[in-house]
Amino acid sequence: CKNYKPTGPIETTMCDYETVESVNEELFSNLSDLVRLPFFKYFQVDLDRECPFWDEYGSCSDPGCAITTVDESDVPEKWRSMTLSKLESSSIEKRHELPGCYYRDSDFCFLDDNTEGDYFDLSTVPERFTGYSGPDAHRIWRSIYEENCFGLSELNLMGGKSPAPVSLPDSMSEVFGEKEDGIDHAEHCLEKRVYYKVISGLHASISTHICLDYLNQTTGQWAPNLECFISRVASHPERLQYMYFNTVLLLRAVSRLGPYLSSYDYCSSGTHEDDQKTLSRIFKVVNIAQNVGKFDETVLFRGENANVLKEEFKTHFRNVTRIMDCVGCHKCRLWGKVQTTGLATAMKILFELDERTLDPYSNANLLQRSEVVALMNTLHRFVESLEAVNKFRTMWSAMSSLD
Ligand code: FAD
Repeated sequence: CKNYKPTGPIETTMCDYETVESVNEELFSNLSDLVRLPFFKYFQVDLDRECPFWDEYGSCSDPGCAITTVDESDVPEKWRSMTLSKLESSSIEKRHELPGCYYRDSDFCFLDDNTEGDYFDLSTVPERFTGYSGPDAHRIWRSIYEENCFGLSELNLMGGKSPAPVSLPDSMSEVFGEKEDGIDHAEHCLEKRVYYKVISGLHASISTHICLDYLNQTTGQWAPNLECFISRVASHPERLQYMYFNTVLLLRAVSRLGPYLSSYDYCSSGTHEDDQKTLSRIFKVVNIAQNVGKFDETVLFRGENANVLKEEFKTHFRNVTRIMDCVGCHKCRLWGKVQTTGLATAMKILFELDERTLDPYSNANLLQRSEVVALMNTLHRFVESLEAVNKFRTMWSAMSSLD
């Protein structure tokens, strides 16, 4: 076990670790400012929706899981649900409705329909240790990894075997632990590997936040916990690598969305000063994204069964966003929803929308406000995790020099 620092190209991207490292501090500073501004800090979501997959999903009675809502009157009027529902109903794409949420054919996630749900101020809810753990939390992760099981389309793409259902591994050890991480992912199709990286990278980023802001239950002190980081992330180098991968994927989405983000109407987000600040931070982040977000999305979903595979990929990722309704800790559920929506938005931008659709002038209602907010907050989470990795590296070096 050594103080691992990846170098060279980041697999399946056109970017390398050193380039991400070289911009991360500046990116983090701009994103940290951005997500504290009114447009990006208020997020409306229904955290009380029932788990659609199983009955007993536990609850976290630990005070660390609790969360406070924001009064709707604190949210600038322009971004309140009543105003938004008027705007969003103009979308021409067909909505597939479910109680309290919906998706359009191009979506990789379920979106709230803005009729229910509370407002949260994300800037006051740190992602950190909450105490949510054990079989309930494990069941969520296991279900998420099980969604990485593609059927007919993968078999056909991999050599035309006859269609047969792929059996889901049912023991924890097949989904978790060394076996899954140790799998030679080269044997799977590229799309499946990307899916796994997205999920494992998200898991690693959440773990990094837990270890960075960790509660020592004996002393009651909050502090970074190096041992936690080593065992959950650093001792599995690929988990660390996938956090970089997700960062590049998100940056590529922000880069493609650049013209749309730069002409988005953030006005009335608070004061005139806030509006100016929002735009200036957006310009900086988009500029960095254009230089670093090097990911060639066109190599995915090509070939004979591309459309079938993409539909399957979307269905699976949509399920992941629904699994969030089974997370028994409200604080974890909130960040789980924000980040799965953010990643789903990035994938929609990369795999579904062409240059014409992304044109802000011909398609001003391209994204819901919640998708834009989730995308930037998710990028912030990953960039913050990479900052935390540097902190842990320094702690590790200091500890090693004492030995
Ligand atoms: P877990 O993190 O539960 O992992 C289970 C198993 O998965 C591990 O044993 C390992 O074999 C495998 N695994 C772990 N990491 C990876 C990876 N990156 N890639 C592939 N396989 C992996 N807890 C908090 O304290 N604060 C939070 O904000 C929080 N948010 C959460 C959000 C969601 C959506 C979920 C599902 C859980 C959240 N949790 C949170 C719980 C937290 O993620 C862990 O489940 C909990 O801390 C118990 O950790 P663990 O060490 O048992 O392993």
